[in-house]
Amino acid sequence: MDNITPSSPTKMENPYYSRTDTTHLDVTDAEWKRILPDSVFEVARHKATERAFTGKYWDAEGLGMYYCAVCGNALFRSDSKFGSSCGWPSFYQALRPNSVRYEEDNTFGMVRTEVLCGRCDSHLGHIFDDGPPPTGKRFCMNSIVLDFEADK
Ligand code: FE
Repeated sequence: MDNITPSSPTKMENPYYSRTDTTHLDVTDAEWKRILPDSVFEVARHKATERAFTGKYWDAEGLGMYYCAVCGNALFRSDSKFGSSCGWPSFYQALRPNSVRYEEDNTFGMVRTEVLCGRCDSHLGHIFDDGPPPTGKRFCMNSIVLDFEADK
């Protein structure tokens, strides 16, 4: 087992983490495994899902920005977050169209659309069509791959 504290991303030791550089990253899973806490790695690179109502942001309400916990890419503003009873942080739109990208996901006998970080390709969650106006979309995200910074 890796001897890594699973509580928060080890950003100081992550040379790819940047909140300003939007250049696409092409980093191997072996390298991410070396850098990321196991719990983050399992969701980001193995598409695991955190249990509902266990993540740190599902009912968070503060004003600020949500970044990719793997690479620092700005993903969502808090004003697009809405109170969802699903147990995961939910947003109706991404910060920029290319903040995220999408892939069809046919695992577990379902047809879903996977949401990945547009910069580092980490798995973030899925998007559904049962969100509120104005988009009708629900970005259903895993807290553990998000990193919130409150407005100053
Ligand atoms: Fe990322």
